[in-house]
Amino acid sequence: MSGDTQVQNPTPAPPSPSKVCLADMNPAELSAWCKTRDWPAFRGRQLFQWIHRGEDFPGMRNLPADMRARLGEIAVAQPVHIRLKRVSQLDGTVKFLFALADGNCVEGVLMHYHHGHTLCVSTQVGCRMGCAFCASTLEGCVRSLSAGEMLGQVLCANRHLREAGDPDPRVHNIVLMGSGEPLDNYDETCRFLRLLREEEGVCVGLRNVSLSTCGLVPQMRRFAGEDLPVTLSVSLHAPNDAIRRRLMPIARVYPIEEVLDASRFYVEKTGRRVIFEYALTEGINASPREAEELADRLRGLQCHVNLIPLNPVAERGLQGVTEDTVRRFQQTLERRHISVTRRREMGDDIEGACGQLRRSTLGRETKDMSEER
Ligand code: SAH
Repeated sequence: MSGDTQVQNPTPAPPSPSKVCLADMNPAELSAWCKTRDWPAFRGRQLFQWIHRGEDFPGMRNLPADMRARLGEIAVAQPVHIRLKRVSQLDGTVKFLFALADGNCVEGVLMHYHHGHTLCVSTQVGCRMGCAFCASTLEGCVRSLSAGEMLGQVLCANRHLREAGDPDPRVHNIVLMGSGEPLDNYDETCRFLRLLREEEGVCVGLRNVSLSTCGLVPQMRRFAGEDLPVTLSVSLHAPNDAIRRRLMPIARVYPIEEVLDASRFYVEKTGRRVIFEYALTEGINASPREAEELADRLRGLQCHVNLIPLNPVAERGLQGVTEDTVRRFQQTLERRHISVTRRREMGDDIEGACGQLRRSTLGRETKDMSEER
């Protein structure tokens, strides 16, 4: 990994998991919580502002010293710490390994686009959806994250940007595309999105948020009614059920037509087009025939297709595609008037793909530990 910046333990060890996590709460809830501790309600709003600015208790200057000390004993401002980060020498993409209070880890990726900094946020430790190409799902789902743990990832990235001297040191866009299935952690994901919308919070507008789902149909329909108008990305990865079932176990539960109907419903309810993600996999879903079939399927749907050249994961035995295959697939869709782009590959030198850094780090640590014995 020559040329990479690798930082081990740049922040303190994670706090005790038994403390109250204040980052889970909105201003009204923090005010109510303050009242239960005999602090005035207006302290709740101050706490909210400090937490979302990334400040820990000792630095919350307008709170009384005894309150700050007490807060340190009973609560954590936010429960996420950067355990490791790698900065790409190619494009400045930063890959984080975030430590949670119980010792679990999740990944995040910070990418720099012309429209600002974009953070890829995880919603679960691992995932139970079992997609055939994905590294996050190899050991199943350990647990779901709380809203505060999702917010904590954003706060860590903001802090990284401040410390790096960035001229505009905040995350502008969020994609829920890290480990986990956001709609399998429905309530906490919605709570996180509502926290983002708070006026005095981290101020990432929901128009700048994308939620990616493998296609949990009932939750997609329910989510359309939440008044949380994010961009919905749907991992389609196939033009029909036979191929989709080979790649995604969830396709056995929800047929592709139901996923597309739920996507249409989302467009109708929110007025926003849906993005379909399509990971091109050699010999499975990447020929012009599949592109034609996909175009037929998507006809009339207000959507955009995002082509992702498969990032092969060693344990999965699936093959990526050549540049030529991507181009042909894209051209076939364009000829059929389907709006399509290919995802830019970023951070190629730092194990940018989902789940790879966590797996390689945890793998190394297991090896190191066994070598010590
Ligand atoms: N659970 C959500 C978020 C997953 S990650 C979902 O299924 O949409 C975001 C995207 O990366 C998904 O489209 C996922 O299918 C895709 N992905 C996962 N592993 C990949 C790999 N090895 N190569 C290319 N895309 C991958």
